[in-house]
Amino acid sequence: MSRQVPRWQRELADAIREPEQLLRELGLDLALLPAAQAAASKFPLRVPRGFVARMHRGVPDDPLLRQVLPLALELESVSGFVADPLDEQATQAAPGVLHKYHGRALLIVTNACAVHCRYCFRREFPYTEVWAGVNQWRPALNYLASDVSLREIILSGGDPLALSNRRLGALLAALESIPHLERLRIHSRLPIILPERVDNGLLKVLLGSRLRPVLVVHANHPQEIDTTVSQTLAWLATAGVTLLNQSVLLRGVNDAATTLAALSETLFTARVLPYYLHLLDPVQGAAHFAVKESVALAIMNTLRQRLPGYLVPRLVREQPGQLAKTLVESR
Ligand SMILES: *Cc1c(COP(=O)(O)O)cnc(C)c1O
Ligand code: SF4
Repeated sequence: MSRQVPRWQRELADAIREPEQLLRELGLDLALLPAAQAAASKFPLRVPRGFVARMHRGVPDDPLLRQVLPLALELESVSGFVADPLDEQATQAAPGVLHKYHGRALLIVTNACAVHCRYCFRREFPYTEVWAGVNQWRPALNYLASDVSLREIILSGGDPLALSNRRLGALLAALESIPHLERLRIHSRLPIILPERVDNGLLKVLLGSRLRPVLVVHANHPQEIDTTVSQTLAWLATAGVTLLNQSVLLRGVNDAATTLAALSETLFTARVLPYYLHLLDPVQGAAHFAVKESVALAIMNTLRQRLPGYLVPRLVREQPGQLAKTLVESR
């Protein structure tokens, strides 16, 4: 019997992967092409058409475009920017399991992403070596079952919602049978990039579980949240999923208090609260996105003056070897 391929999977398959196609689609100067092709050979371009539709045509500095367009700057080596800034390969407790913090562990369930974000700290990550594949979850599950201090399991990747509902359901069933787990957290950019991913089947999987679901989405700029995204998120919230957002502070994308204030307001309208604003992890190829800590602190100050406290994200940095994310505050 042939199953019908869900719409989101067709849209993923149809994502733009050729820099030339992206430039043409947006009416941009093809002089940008050689650099884009060179950078894409290191970390391929990938962006679904629905996200491209939210970009402004003919604007090379569009904040959404900047997140996905490969640039020659990525090929420059900058001291301090390295392949594995978080030393994640050293913190694996079992294949695919990162257990750094008390009470919660992170499970890398897939290497696939709907979009390739140029600033991603995992752009250099050798997933194939660490990824607990669909039929290889057993050692990871055994580890989670053996540590009774764990309360929360965080699905990450890649993007865990790149898994089909069937696979996700199978994984949740296995996780649910571990009695000390209480919460399920999913870190995903898919509801923002491709809101069609949030379908009835997914809602059934999330709400059918004993584990309390928390979905942490990833939006960096208010322009990412169009009406469809907003309605989709609000629908999830109404159904009972706790929704949070994390962003990365990115030069030329969202390094202005007005932009971040608008993002928080837009998220709230979609029933999402801001959670973390991450300082960029110093990954090779992303140095041009870095924002100075002094600038970040000034932005945070303005945000605190303009917004209610619950709409101000926490500015954090991830430091290898720490017991939690490090809160970045003015001294
Ligand atoms: C960020 C992260 C978490 C979650 O941290 P919270 O502060 O609970 O959001 C858990 N495990 C790892 C490995 C992480 O990087
Ligand atoms: S979706 Fe997340 S994991 Fe995937 S490339 Fe973007 S930032 Fe990285």
